[in-house]
Amino acid sequence: MSFKDLKLNRPLLRAVAEKGYDNPTLIQERTIPLVLNKKDVIASAQTGTGKTAAFALPILQLLYDKQESGKSQKKIRALIISPTRELAIQIQENFEEYAIHTNLTSTVIFGGASIDPQKEILKKGIDVLIATPGRLLDLHKQDIVNLDYVETLVLDEADLMLDMGFIDDVKKIERLCPEEKQTLLFSATMPYKVEQLAETILKNPKRIEVSQNSSTSKNVNQALYYVPKPQKIELCLHLLRNTIKGRIIIFRRTKYGVDKIEQTLLKNNYKADSLHGDKSQTLRQEALNNFKKNKVDILIATDVAARGIDIDDVDAVINFDLPNIPETYVHRIGRTARAGNTGIAYSFCSADEREYIKAIQQLINLQLDVVEEHPYPLDPKAKPIVHKKQGSKYKKRRKSEASKKKKKRWY
Ligand code: AMP
Repeated sequence: MSFKDLKLNRPLLRAVAEKGYDNPTLIQERTIPLVLNKKDVIASAQTGTGKTAAFALPILQLLYDKQESGKSQKKIRALIISPTRELAIQIQENFEEYAIHTNLTSTVIFGGASIDPQKEILKKGIDVLIATPGRLLDLHKQDIVNLDYVETLVLDEADLMLDMGFIDDVKKIERLCPEEKQTLLFSATMPYKVEQLAETILKNPKRIEVSQNSSTSKNVNQALYYVPKPQKIELCLHLLRNTIKGRIIIFRRTKYGVDKIEQTLLKNNYKADSLHGDKSQTLRQEALNNFKKNKVDILIATDVAARGIDIDDVDAVINFDLPNIPETYVHRIGRTARAGNTGIAYSFCSADEREYIKAIQQLINLQLDVVEEHPYPLDPKAKPIVHKKQGSKYKKRRKSEASKKKKKRWY
């Protein structure tokens, strides 16, 4: 099937050709006709499948076909809600590229950045708004954003949005839009709470599923290293020196862990940058750009900060800590081997993470290749290192932190 078969108009076909897309991806093949037919859609699709174009292209076509003549000010007719700033920026860049041969305009608003320039752009009028929930509600309250003319609402990465506690904001935003509208919901996974949300806000939605949550790309070689926790950093340095080449993303569960590795790598003269929720928006964007533009070869990130971000040509992913949610493993290794390339995922498993690896292997229905020849092997009988004292101290600290900053996230 070609993009032409999907009945996209000429300005969009030109843009797609200029982006170098030969054929639509599966999610595009399935979603574009439904959106053009004004159906509500619930799609389970991960980033990397081409899902942004799957909603952006038909939305632009609908807006293009129904433009008001004359010089009246543009109104927001499509609203895309994204959980993270990075993802929102990326979606807007896509809209801009696909709309290049049309007169349709888009902008992105997100928290953590100066509000005034965003206000100025909005006052001039735009067709498509991409927003994170908090900033959108803020600007709506200030009467800068008018959602009365929204024809299509997209909730992207709905599962992450709910994980991040945006459920009430999302529902509120949906209610601020006209009742008669088209709603599209995209989610990497479909837990019950996402299904519930879909049930309350979608009308007779068409379901699309392009890949199982549990499927990992055939193009990713997955290697597993059993290693004592204190020696993970040595193993990481050893592999960086001898085995892993190219552009690498290292995943850690916590912001503290990300910072710690970054310091070690910088000390060892690696060009690295990091991405996590405690960094300012400017620093996060800078880290991402540094990696995208090859100024650094290694990006260290927490899962939430990295989720959904489209970075091409990642040669390897290192799971420095194993994720406690098995689906996260699939997301992480999906960062590499995109668009038909091959990649390698290296996972480090310490004694206390054996349960995690079991769950992961069960989910992906695959036994990972265990690399036994390395300098820091884990004794198969090794017990998880749990210092009682440390454990209770840690628990106490977490408790007191939690009570001090109830909503502070660790990712
Ligand atoms: P997404 O899942 O939207 O993050 O897209 C992942 C990557 O696939 C992005 O770099 C897109 O530019 C690219 N992409 C989207 N659609 C196509 C297509 N039909 N052919 C080739 N690449 C595509």
